[in-house]
Amino acid sequence: MKKKYDFIILGSGLGGLLTAFILSKAGNKVLILEKNPKLGGTLQSFRRFGCDFSTGMHYLGSLDEGQMLNKIFKYFNLFETIEYKKLDVDGFEVVNVAGTEYKIPMGWERYKKQFLEYFPGNEEVIERYYYLVNRAIDAQALYNLNHPEENNDDNILMKSAYEVLKSLSPDVGIQNFLAALNFDYVGEKDKTPFYVHALVSNYFIKSSYRVIGDSDQIANSLANSIREYGGEILNRQKVVGFLYEDKNITAVKTHKEEIFYGDRIISNIHPANTMDLIDNDRIKKIYRNRMKNMKNTISSFAVHLKMKENSFEYLNYNYQYFKQNDVWYPSYYDEKNWPEHFFLQTPPLKMEEDYCNCVQILTAMKYDEVKKWEGTTKRTRGEEYHRWKEEKAQKLINMVEEKFPGFKDKIENINISTPLSFKDYIGTTDGSMYGRISDFNNVVSNYVSHRTKIPNLYLTGQNLNLHGALGVSLSALITSGEFINLKNLLGEINNA
Ligand SMILES: Cc1cc2nc3c(=O)[nH]c(=O)nc-3n(C[C@H](O)[C@H](O)[C@H](O)COP(=O)(O)OP(=O)(O)OC[C@H]3O[C@@H](n4cnc5c(N)ncnc54)[C@H](O)[C@@H]3O)c2cc1C
Repeated sequence: MKKKYDFIILGSGLGGLLTAFILSKAGNKVLILEKNPKLGGTLQSFRRFGCDFSTGMHYLGSLDEGQMLNKIFKYFNLFETIEYKKLDVDGFEVVNVAGTEYKIPMGWERYKKQFLEYFPGNEEVIERYYYLVNRAIDAQALYNLNHPEENNDDNILMKSAYEVLKSLSPDVGIQNFLAALNFDYVGEKDKTPFYVHALVSNYFIKSSYRVIGDSDQIANSLANSIREYGGEILNRQKVVGFLYEDKNITAVKTHKEEIFYGDRIISNIHPANTMDLIDNDRIKKIYRNRMKNMKNTISSFAVHLKMKENSFEYLNYNYQYFKQNDVWYPSYYDEKNWPEHFFLQTPPLKMEEDYCNCVQILTAMKYDEVKKWEGTTKRTRGEEYHRWKEEKAQKLINMVEEKFPGFKDKIENINISTPLSFKDYIGTTDGSMYGRISDFNNVVSNYVSHRTKIPNLYLTGQNLNLHGALGVSLSALITSGEFINLKNLLGEINNA
C-alpha cells in the first residue's frame, strides 16, 4: 500500500523546518524533501580551514527574555542545546559612513540617548521616529504575536522608508544613522516600504545576539524535534514536479523519480521556482507570470577568512563601512566602483574569547556581474571566473585594510562565495539575499499569499512576509495557521 503524508514540505530552509515542527507537533504526518545534502537553506553553515561560516544567519534580534524571538525560540526548543552571545549593548553595530563612525546601541533608551549625543537638539526628530516605528509595528498585529484580525493599519505600512526618514530631518547624517542597519534588509530608496525598515531595525535594536558555534545547530535542533514528533526528512531529494487529480496535487516527484503522496503540499522554495514545478495548464498564466516576475533583493558576495592564530581580535559587534555618505548602497550600486560597502563579522566559538581566528566579510553584489557564467557548474566555471572572483575578493579585502590596518598580513586562508554560490546552493534564479523585495509602489502585484491557485498547494518562507529569522518565523505561523488554530498557537508561543 502506498504511504501517504498529511503534509509534504518542499525545502528545509528555516521556513520549511519551522512549519514542519508546528504541524508534526500538532500530530500530523509530515515529510520534508530537501535537494541538498545539508538541511537549513541559508541557515546552514559550512566548514573550511577549521572554521564554521554561516551562509545567512550572522546575527539574531529580539532574543532578550520576554522579547519576540525569545518566545518563538523557546516554543521551538532552540534554547535547549544552543548558546547565544549577546553583542555589545553600547554598540552592537559600528557603522562608518564616509569616515564618520556611529555606534548603534541596544535598547531604545540607549539608542535615543546615543542619537542625541551625535545630533544634539533633535529630540523631536528621534521621538517622532520612535513613534512611527511603533506605529508600523502596531499595525502588524502578528509582529507582536497577536492575531492578525486584531489590527492592521495599511496606511503606515506602505510608505517609502527613505521618504519617511527624509521627512524627519533634512540632515543626511541623521537619515544615515536612522537607516544604518540597511544591509539587514538591503533597502532600496525607490522600493523599500517603511514597515520593512521599522520591523528589522526594531528587531535588532531591541537586542542582538550571535549563535555560539555554527548556525547548523538551529537546523539540526529543529530537524531532531520534527523527527521526535514523528516527522520524516529526506535530503538529496530535489523536487521536480507533481502528480494531480482534478484540481489538486496528489503526489510530489523528485529527481530520483521517486513519488511521495500527500494531502497538502507546502513549498518553502522561492515562489518563482515553485511555479516551474507546476504543469502549464494547471494555473493561469497571469498568476504564474506575477510570481515569476517579482523583483528580488540584491545578491551578495562574501569572503570567509581564516586568520593567523590569535592575530585578529574578536569583535563583539558587527562593523560596517560605507564609502559614500549614503547607507542605501543597493540604490547607487555601480559595478565600476564596487565595492563601496562592507559588513565584517567575527563569529564566536565560545562565550568569552579574546581573538577570532575566523572572519566573514560580506557586501551586496548584482547577479548581472556573474550572469555570463550562469550555465556553468562549480567544476566548469573556468579560469576566467576564478580570476574574476579572486580580484573581487582582493578589492573587498583592500577596503577592509583601510579601516583595519595590518588586516591583510593576518590572513592565512581565503574562501569566496559569489551570487552563483547562492544560486546553486539554494536554487534561486539570481542568488538574491533576502528573496522577493517588498515594494511600496506595487503593493498588490507584490503581495504573496501563503495560498496558491492550486487548492492544496501552499507557500511558506521569506518570500511571504519578511526575511530573516523574524520574518520567516512569522511566515511559518501564517502558513500553519491555515491548518491549526492560530490563536491557540500564538497562546502557546506567548506562554512558552
Ligand atoms: C548573505 C546572507 C546573510 C543573511 N544574514 C542574516 C542574518 O544575519 N540574520 C537573519 O535573521 N537572516 C539573515 N539572512 C536571511 C535568512 O538567512 C533567510 O531569510 C532565511 O534563512 C530564509 O529561509 P527560507 O526558509 O525562506 O528559505 P531558504 O533558506 O531559501 O530555503 C529554501 C530551501 O529549499 C531548498 N530547495 C530549493 N529548491 C528545491 C527543490 N526543487 N527541491 C527540494 N528542495 C529545494 C533549498 O535547498 C533550501 O534548503 C541572510 C541571508 C543571506 C543570503
